[in-house]
Amino acid sequence: MKPVFVPHSNYQAFVHQQLRTHYGPGIVLINKDWPLAAKLWMTDLSAITTLLHDAYSNRGPLPRDPASLLRSFLIFLMTNPEMGLTEWINEMKRTPIYAILSGFDFDDLPGVGTFYDFFERLWPAVDKHLKPKKQRKRKGKTKKGKKGEIAPTTTPGKVKRLVEWMMRHTDKKNALPADRLFDFFQAQILTVSANLGLLGDVSALSAAGDGTPVVTSAYPRSKPTCDCRARGIADCNHPRLYSQPDCNSGWDSAREKHFNGYHLYMISAADSKHDLPLYPRLQPASGHDAVSLVMSTVEFKQRFTLGTVDKMLLDAAHDAEAIYLLLDHQNIEPFIDLNNRSKKNTATDSDIQISPTGIPICPKGNEMKPNGFDKSQNRRKWRCSPSCGCSDAKYGRTYHTHSSDNLRLYPKTVRGSEKWNLTYKRRTSIERSNKREKIDYKLESGRHRSTMMWYMRIYGIMICQHMDAWYVSQKDEWDKLKSTICPSAA
Ligand SMILES: [Zn+2]
Ligand SMILES: [Zn+2]
Repeated sequence: MKPVFVPHSNYQAFVHQQLRTHYGPGIVLINKDWPLAAKLWMTDLSAITTLLHDAYSNRGPLPRDPASLLRSFLIFLMTNPEMGLTEWINEMKRTPIYAILSGFDFDDLPGVGTFYDFFERLWPAVDKHLKPKKQRKRKGKTKKGKKGEIAPTTTPGKVKRLVEWMMRHTDKKNALPADRLFDFFQAQILTVSANLGLLGDVSALSAAGDGTPVVTSAYPRSKPTCDCRARGIADCNHPRLYSQPDCNSGWDSAREKHFNGYHLYMISAADSKHDLPLYPRLQPASGHDAVSLVMSTVEFKQRFTLGTVDKMLLDAAHDAEAIYLLLDHQNIEPFIDLNNRSKKNTATDSDIQISPTGIPICPKGNEMKPNGFDKSQNRRKWRCSPSCGCSDAKYGRTYHTHSSDNLRLYPKTVRGSEKWNLTYKRRTSIERSNKREKIDYKLESGRHRSTMMWYMRIYGIMICQHMDAWYVSQKDEWDKLKSTICPSAA
């Protein structure tokens, strides 16, 4: 049967009544539990039932309330993210307040199968992985990088080809299995944060993007599809069946080791004081930031309807000319650090050369100074002081550069200018957001085998990050409810 829509006020009434009836002998709500209670009490998740209406059939037994299952999953992530789901159900038995805040009678809890059934309905694809299990046999490991190195090698040609392909196909939105999760996240979570002003200015959003390794298991598991080994052929090239086809081996530069799993690429709201995440994308571990950004920015722009992305803040691993072109094509201003591999100046058609950081060098070898922007000609002016001696002109040698000549070297906002620094310093917001997911919410403790479940975990954690921000930003107001909801904890 279809699940019955339970208005949020009914859930609140249930919690209220349960706390009144059972407080004392069975249930103690201590002060430490209050923020958790407040977040659940204030967050209306009832729309999940409407969203999933079509995903349930007309027949069969009445399903559990989807909103309660979702709440329970969020409480699990907020309180015991290192547990497995089976253990979580035991934990709800031991700690009835968790069951009540989920919306369950604590003597009538769902089994683990009920949770998985619910997750499958949030994933409108038959396959729980993105790629088929049967794959070409994988070759050796990816190259090691140096400690803290931002860019493990990828060929600029690969990024360029992908950008060219994406730019031809930006109008075509390919449905992704995680879209149902994003739709809910955008309509019920991002919208609330946007209305509270927690994402910054959504009409001209400043976004940041970065990738982070997600370790899923020690080794990739695979089975042969052939009997070559039995026939004494040791090294054949037949395809194999991989149990985690979306995972492979990558190099974790922070931990300085190879790992098996995913490369999680996240886009976040850079001006958010709470470092709030906007769009997650799982790629195989060998994925490179620059390649992942290309796919993520196109997918995100196709899906984000709450405002307009105005700026994209990225680290030097993204410093590829094709990325500037793509973002410019999307009307997004790139803020990317230069990744200077070359120390050579570039020649121009005059006697001026250009340094690797985009500064014109006068014939005497001195760096020219920025000298304002000529709006009518849309060009940046540079000048060398008369004392340099490189020119007889009264005010010294001048030179002009156009953004259109080279988006990478002459960005609209000059690197190192006050405006650049002010904008770009918010880039680290994405690093804090990714850290919060991995360290505070133990992202990698999920013992999941499917990409579907990893997406559930990632979106669950992202919802928790937003709920945390709602509480922190409205703490005084929300704390006033304490004496009404649970007088015992006041
Ligand atoms: Zn074989
Ligand atoms: Zn000069």
